Amino acid sequence: MSEQANPFETLQSQIDEAANHLEIGDDVIERLKHPERVLETNLTIERDDGDLERFKAFRSQFNGDRGPYKGGIRYHPAVSRDEVKALSGWMVYKCAVVDIPYGGGKGGIVVDPSEYSESELERLTRAFATELRPLIGEDRDIPAPDVNTGQREMNWIKDTYETLENTTEPGVITGKNIASGGSEGRVEATGRSTVIAAREAFDYLDKDLEGATVAVQGYGNAGWIAAKLIDEMGATVVAVSDSSGGIYDPDGFDPAAAKQHKNETGSVVGFPGSDEEITNEDLLTLDVDLLIPAALENAIDGDLAREVEADVISEAANGPLTPEADQVLEDEDVFVVPDILANAGGVTVSYFEWVQNRQRFYWSEEKVNTELEEHIVEAFDSLVETIEAHDLDNPRTAAYVVAIQRVADAFEEAGSFP
Ligand code: GLU
Repeated sequence: MSEQANPFETLQSQIDEAANHLEIGDDVIERLKHPERVLETNLTIERDDGDLERFKAFRSQFNGDRGPYKGGIRYHPAVSRDEVKALSGWMVYKCAVVDIPYGGGKGGIVVDPSEYSESELERLTRAFATELRPLIGEDRDIPAPDVNTGQREMNWIKDTYETLENTTEPGVITGKNIASGGSEGRVEATGRSTVIAAREAFDYLDKDLEGATVAVQGYGNAGWIAAKLIDEMGATVVAVSDSSGGIYDPDGFDPAAAKQHKNETGSVVGFPGSDEEITNEDLLTLDVDLLIPAALENAIDGDLAREVEADVISEAANGPLTPEADQVLEDEDVFVVPDILANAGGVTVSYFEWVQNRQRFYWSEEKVNTELEEHIVEAFDSLVETIEAHDLDNPRTAAYVVAIQRVADAFEEAGSFP
């Protein structure tokens, strides 16, 4: 990951850029550029050998004008206050662009989970849930999975919260497993929206997805599902990667077999069904029709962007382009479906999970996927309308124009109190 862009400054520059195309006062824009509050906490847990260890953790509640704060919890050594602030802001505009009734939040623990046992991670997660308890709730702030967290962590958080509150409130958190009140289709939702958005972009540009070549950077939950679904849509996945490196085969390979290899060995590298090994940088600059960055922020900086050969990018990761990279790709007419739309499927199905939890009435996978498809297609249509109405060159700016207007409308309706 490049060190050159601070994600919080990236977020603020994206808001400023869109504000140039909106008639919203600078005073309101100023409010929309900063989190309402950030919890910074230190969690001390007992290691399996009896020693104590301290971990820094954050929860940023960026904006609640459109509903409860919503967003994931990330476990990663690179988690920082500014990263969490940025990610929480992106959640605000993500929820607004797909028009679900949430604000935005995000949390993280500075930890490399691969170095801890399951019971250590359980103690750490329950310690964080205990710190979060006064801040969260189904009408207040609703965490979810993010990088290196999943159903297991969500179930621990739900159980800790419900035990301490002496209640049942499954809607306090989303991304749970089905037995604990999770939703069908939630695990696949981020990758699913990434490919729906890519399909819509290809359609808009009059390009054929059938037979198109695709490279996917990052083979976690979002990247691997995106690879699987785009393959099912008739595109050819020619390269995928993870933090250990990548694999490439110009004739394409089966994404599920590559995933199987990763499950067995820890990485896609060495997958016998592909032609050659490549680096993450090589992957990002391959001559493909579609590039899906599905790893971390700042994967593509300005220099790398100059070498990007893809025609369309659909951002499964949050913040994969630095602002300079974004400008370079705009100048080169690469159509970038921005993260706040492309990966919004995750939080959209989180919303469906929350609705089901509150109604104690559960949907079929088919209903989830149909509703998801509608939300993403509708969001893409308003993106295109905005590109055309404002004569914009950058789809990201259009997405922020739509989203910021919605948040500002909610704020201005209510006014400022106290
Ligand atoms: N962490 C995911 C994201 O960045 C999902 C958030 C959620 O489901 O609330 O969008």
